[in-house]
Amino acid sequence: MAAEVIRLNQVCKRYRMGEATVDALVDATFTIEEGEFVAILGPSGSGKSTLMHLLGFLDSPSSGELFFEGRPVAALDETARAHVRAEKIGFVFQAFNLLPRLTVAGNVRLPLTYHRHPPADAAARVADALARVDMTNRAHHRPGELSGGQRQRVAIARALVNSPRILLADEPTGNLDTHTAATILALFKELNRQGGTIVLVTHSAEIAAQFPRQLHVRDGRITDHR
Ligand code: ADP
Ligand code: MG
Repeated sequence: MAAEVIRLNQVCKRYRMGEATVDALVDATFTIEEGEFVAILGPSGSGKSTLMHLLGFLDSPSSGELFFEGRPVAALDETARAHVRAEKIGFVFQAFNLLPRLTVAGNVRLPLTYHRHPPADAAARVADALARVDMTNRAHHRPGELSGGQRQRVAIARALVNSPRILLADEPTGNLDTHTAATILALFKELNRQGGTIVLVTHSAEIAAQFPRQLHVRDGRITDHR
C-alpha cells in the first residue's frame, strides 16, 4: 500500500454568520495516498473550496481530525503549520494569482524566498519547474504578456518549485477555454504520471471522468467513486 499523505476522520466545517450557520462540510472521512490523482466534483456552493482549504491547512476543521503524513495537524502550532504548508503543499488557483510586476521566473521563485535560508540551488529549481510546464522560453516575460493557459502553467511551476508532497488545484481550468483547459489537464496528468500526488477541484463531470478516483461533494457531504 502506498504511503498516506492526507487523512481526514469525520471532519466537519461549520461557518457562523451571525445567527445563521452553514454546514459547509459534514463528516468527511477519506485518505489521499501518495501518487493518487483525485478529482473533487460538485456544483457551486457544495463545499469544494472549503475542503481544499482544510486539505492545505488554510483553515481548520470545526470538528474531526486531519492528518498530514500520519501526524495530526491540530498538534502543530501556527508556525509549524505554515512551514509544512510552504514546503510540502503546492497550490494552484482558478485566477492564477501571479504578481504582475514580477517576471515569470520571479513568480516561480517566490515560494523559495519564504525559506529562512533561500536554497543555493534556487535558480536551478526555478529553471527545472519552468521546464516541467514547458515555459522556459517565457522566463523573462511578465504575466501580462501571457495567455491564460500560459499564466496557469507559470502558477503550476510556482506550485512545483518546492517539490511538494501534494498539489492542490482549485478549479484550475475554470478561467480557460475548452481547448486550453484540456492542455492544462494533460499537464496535470503528466505530473501525476511522473509520481505527483494531485487533488483537483472541478464542477465539470467531463473533466472529473478523466480521473481514476472522484470525490463527489453535495451539500457538504462526500461520496467516494473509484
Ligand atoms: P464551492 O467551492 O463548492 O463552490 P464553498 O466551499 O466555497 O463551495 O462553500 C460551501 C458553503 O459554505 C457555501 O454555502 C458558502 O456560502 C459557505 N461558505 C464558504 N466560505 C464561507 C465563509 N468564509 N463564511 C461563511 N460561509 C462560507
Ligand atoms: Mg470553490
